[in-house]
Amino acid sequence: MITGTTKLLGVIGDPIEHSLSPVMHNAALNKLNMDYVYLPFPITSANLEQAIAGFAAMGVMGFSVTIPHKEAIIPLLSEISPIAYTIGAVNTVIRQGNQWIGTNTDVEGFIAPLKTTYHRDWSQTKAVILGNGGAARAVVAGCMKLEMAEIHVVGRNVDKLRAFSHSWENTPFPGRFQWHEWDKLPQLLPDTRLLVNTTPIGMYPKMNESPLSEQEIGYLPDGAIAYDLIYIPKPTKFLHKAEARGIIAIDGLEMLVQQGAAALKIWLQREDIPIHEMRQALQHHLGF
Ligand code: NAP
Repeated sequence: MITGTTKLLGVIGDPIEHSLSPVMHNAALNKLNMDYVYLPFPITSANLEQAIAGFAAMGVMGFSVTIPHKEAIIPLLSEISPIAYTIGAVNTVIRQGNQWIGTNTDVEGFIAPLKTTYHRDWSQTKAVILGNGGAARAVVAGCMKLEMAEIHVVGRNVDKLRAFSHSWENTPFPGRFQWHEWDKLPQLLPDTRLLVNTTPIGMYPKMNESPLSEQEIGYLPDGAIAYDLIYIPKPTKFLHKAEARGIIAIDGLEMLVQQGAAALKIWLQREDIPIHEMRQALQHHLGF
């Protein structure tokens, strides 16, 4: 029930209508019986600064940040965490007194299903990451955090790959990965233990496409993990083919849930986030 004491959380983005965050966050807040509500706020880039000032005036406790504001919000914050600095993007903002502090929970979200489900010696793992956009930054940082033996980023545009590589120079992890053009992929696959798709290939409207051909999936060794950041459709064509070949498949839903749970931990200052209810609310909403 919303009353005069209800505290406000939310998500800013443009567009925001299709955000799944309100579904999972309000499910958690209800389960915890906390006097909070989490709302979607459609904020255009032109209104970003005004909106943040308005949030301060209204006493908003914290908010999530999505496309297109993850980088643009940084100059409007008092401070950002080392992980947000490393990946150059903020997805979670916390109010501390009169200040806004930014952080990024995508790395924690990406790592969570790897750590909880598969007990591996990551220092022996070669990871290949497809794509070099925003999500790839969190995935690369996650692989670095797990101290993977080799990290390879595969992209289609050399200029963007170079810029991606340079952007890590002033972080704690310079030169920790190699980048390649897409045609090198078949050579990389035979000893790849973790293959992560961070491209939109396989999601609407490219639902019938896969970033890897059947033949390329066949190059992956037994026991490899195929991790697709896409969560609709379930499974993507890529994961469907990988599973048929006996490869372990992880879809993007768990990353979505876990990055949200990590944000709630920070806002609510408690560890007992009802992840099961968040996951269930999303699955129910998506009809899975
Ligand atoms: P982005 O910044 O636009 O990056 C997309 C990357 O994919 C770019 O490197 C782009 O290449 C590459 N790409 C796009 N189409 C391609 C194609 N046909 N062939 C080869 N490469 C292609 O997007 P993002 O924010 O990183 O998001 C990427 C995906 O991750 C989306 O599907 C998103 O829904 C998903 N995601 C999931 C979660 C989660 O919690 N599960 C979180 C974040 C993102 P260029 O650089 O050459 O353009």
